[in-house]
Amino acid sequence: MPYPTQPEASHFIGGQYVEDTAGDPIDVVYPATGEVIAKLHAATPAIIEQALAAADAARAEWAAMSGTERGRILRRAADIMRERNHDLSVLETYDTGKPLSETLVADATSAADALEYFGGLAGSLTGEHVQLPGGDFAYTIREPLGVCVGIGAWNYPTQIAAWKGAPALCCGNTMVFKPSETTPLSALKVAEILTEAGAPAGVYNVIQGYGPVGTALIEDPRVAKVSLTGSVPTGRKVYAAAAAGMKHATMELGGKSPLVIFDDADLEIACAAAILGNYYSTGQVCSNGTRVFVQEGLVDAFCARMVERMQDAVIGDPLDETTTIGPMVSEAQLNIVKRYIETGVSEGAELVTGGTALDKDGYWITPALFRNVTDDMTIAREEIFGPVLSVLSFKTEEEALARANDTEFGLAAGVITRDLSRAHRMVSGFEAGTCYINAYNLAPVEVPFGGSKQSGVGRENSKAAIEHYSQLKSVYVGMAPAEAPF
Ligand code: NDP
Repeated sequence: MPYPTQPEASHFIGGQYVEDTAGDPIDVVYPATGEVIAKLHAATPAIIEQALAAADAARAEWAAMSGTERGRILRRAADIMRERNHDLSVLETYDTGKPLSETLVADATSAADALEYFGGLAGSLTGEHVQLPGGDFAYTIREPLGVCVGIGAWNYPTQIAAWKGAPALCCGNTMVFKPSETTPLSALKVAEILTEAGAPAGVYNVIQGYGPVGTALIEDPRVAKVSLTGSVPTGRKVYAAAAAGMKHATMELGGKSPLVIFDDADLEIACAAAILGNYYSTGQVCSNGTRVFVQEGLVDAFCARMVERMQDAVIGDPLDETTTIGPMVSEAQLNIVKRYIETGVSEGAELVTGGTALDKDGYWITPALFRNVTDDMTIAREEIFGPVLSVLSFKTEEEALARANDTEFGLAAGVITRDLSRAHRMVSGFEAGTCYINAYNLAPVEVPFGGSKQSGVGRENSKAAIEHYSQLKSVYVGMAPAEAPF
């Protein structure tokens, strides 16, 4: 391996790398070749205890620092991250298989944005003053929650580690983060960089492991909050475990989002949105607009132009910067996608292009486009998490909106039209946390991100995240002599 992918140790606790070889082995695989690029160990009970104890011990000092001081550390970490963007992006590519053309602009850079944004906010977190009758008044103090647990999915490991860590640390909390065991490498770099930037030992810790490690973290009484990025079934389990301990929870879960394209749309914008919403990161994006509703008069032209544009996709070596489509993250995920494509065909959808597994090492499949998909088909109902686009045709705006909302999920929704009034009517009717008009799949840190319905609870990014990583203490101040009935 020309690039060092084996970390110094599996876990990062109390400001340093820590190993416990008694933990279950975790082989990290480069999805483009199937090669093992690092060998790690899942956290043992001793490691879990060490991480929680470190985060708990670091709490008081971190919370007592001024917001400006905490913010400076986060912003310094953002600067380091940007300076090392190339190396971090290469590592992310090895960890996930996502092409370097993406990781250079969407992973460490997005993590750096989060660290910079919340670093900037940290100095201006305040409570408020409330004037009351008779000269009495109240004020609120914005306090950290305590030890927060972050649990990540495998599609954006650097970004998720920072999207959870940055707001948590901004508010004066400490964190134990558990990446997905499929992509355990990048979060360790986030911890290393935060420490180098001046975060005291124990403020941000990373431990590896499978689901049970996450469960053990959530169930610990020292933990005040859990933030999960993962699937809906995992979300249900994690939310229930958090509820048992009356803990705060943010759930960023899956989706089956609609992208509605009207026949007045600019065809190139429509195709660009559909490509960004289905094939970026080889389709492994939670907010993907996989149900592409196209108004009936435009279906032929849309499918024809998509097929043309998809011929320009470059599938191949993810480390070559001209590559635009990488492999699936794992053999398991590749098999899931293959099964869904078979199901789509067997249920009667027309596979227009793609969906072919490549006969080479690694986990490769060409981007698929189905048309003549109906609402009841499995590929139109279930999250696939792969490069599979379904075209469904519709006649009227009312019909499109009703069908777009006919899903248990509510993460994102998009509309492509030149008619602005219609665009805003659609957006106001969409049952989704994040909506797009003539765009798709952008998630700048300044904008709240999260889902409604089964897609989640709470919001990440923006000032909204502060509400999910802090709590208010209300203080009533009596100015007049206290009066009592007896
Ligand atoms: P999973 O739900 O399988 O896993 C998510 C994380 O939770 C992993 O770290 C996993 O560990 C852990 N976990 C699993 N079971 C438990 C448990 N019982 N208690 C505690 N932790 C547990 O998701 P994937 O990693 O497969 O990611 C894909 C999913 O994530 C998709 O549904 C996607 O839509 C969603 N996602 C949502 C995003 C959003 O912001 N809304 C963004 C990105 C992805 P382990 O891997 O070891 O099982």
